[in-house]
Amino acid sequence: MSYDLTGRTAVVTGAASGMGEATARLLAAGGARVALLARRADRLAESAAKIEAEGGRALAVPVDVTDQAAVERAAEAVHQAWGRVDLVVNAAGVMLPNPVAAGRLDEWTRMVDTNLTGALRVIDAFRADLVAAGAEGRAADLVNVSSIGSHVTFPGYAVYSATKAALTHLSAVLRTELGPLDVRVTNVEPGLTDTELGSHIDNAELSAQLDGMFQVIPPLTSEDVADLIAWTVSRRAGVNLRQAIVLPTRQA
Ligand code: NDP
Repeated sequence: MSYDLTGRTAVVTGAASGMGEATARLLAAGGARVALLARRADRLAESAAKIEAEGGRALAVPVDVTDQAAVERAAEAVHQAWGRVDLVVNAAGVMLPNPVAAGRLDEWTRMVDTNLTGALRVIDAFRADLVAAGAEGRAADLVNVSSIGSHVTFPGYAVYSATKAALTHLSAVLRTELGPLDVRVTNVEPGLTDTELGSHIDNAELSAQLDGMFQVIPPLTSEDVADLIAWTVSRRAGVNLRQAIVLPTRQA
C-alpha cells in the first residue's frame, strides 16, 4: 500500500533496521524526502540506496541520539540539504531486559538515554520546523514509537517498559502543547514485531523466553507498523490519530 506524501520532508530515527527502515521506505514511496538517522553508517547508506533505486529521495545521516552535539549536527545536515522538515518519526530504541536486581546501571542508562531522552533530543531539534509547518497550514507530524510494553507487565522488563510508558505519556502531554499549534502528535504502541530488537539481550533466559514467544505468536512485520504510520500521517491535516496499539492477532 502506498500513501500520498508528496511535498513532505521527513526525519526517521532508527532507520538502519526494523520499523524505522520500513517506515522510511514507505514514506519515500509516497513521495516524501526522507532523512534516515541511526548509528550504523553502512546500514543507513544501504537503506538510502534502496530508496533511491526505487525512485525515492533519501539522505543518510549517521547519528547517536544519546549524543546531544551529534543530534544538533544531524539536524543541521538535514536543514542544509532540504530546509525545514514537517514529519518526524522517533523509532530509535533499545530493549535490554534484566531483573532490576541485576543492578545493570549500564543498561538502564542506555535505555533511558536512547528511548526517552534520545527521542526528546530529536523532538527538540525539529520542534520549530513542525510548528512552522503547522503555522503555514500544512500537515506537521511527530510520531513516537512506544510499545505495548508501556501497558503490560513482564518480569525483567521493568526499565524498558518504564521508558516506553514515559514515552507514551510524553506523547500525550506534549500533544497538549503542540496540538494547539497545529502539529499532530501520534504515539504508536506495537506488540511483538520481527526485527533486530531482541538481538542485544544480555540474559540467556530472557532471550530464550522471547524466542519462545516468536514460536507461538506469529509476529507483526516492520512493514505492518510502517503501514500504520504512513496511513496516520497521510490523513488530512485536521485529523490526528493520538494513540494506536497494534498487535499480532494472537498476542493477548
Ligand atoms: P531494531 O533494533 O531493528 O531498530 C532499532 C533502531 O534504533 C536501529 O535502527 C538502531 O540503529 C537504532 N538505534 C538504537 N540505538 C540508537 C542510538 N543510540 N542512536 C541512534 N539510533 C539508535 O528494532 P525495532 O525496529 O523493533 O525497534 C524500533 C522501535 O520499536 C524501538 O523503539 C522499539 O523499542 C520499538 N518496539 C519494538 C517492538 C518489537 O517487538 N520489535 C515492539 C514494540 C516497540 P543503530 O544500531 O544503527 O543505531
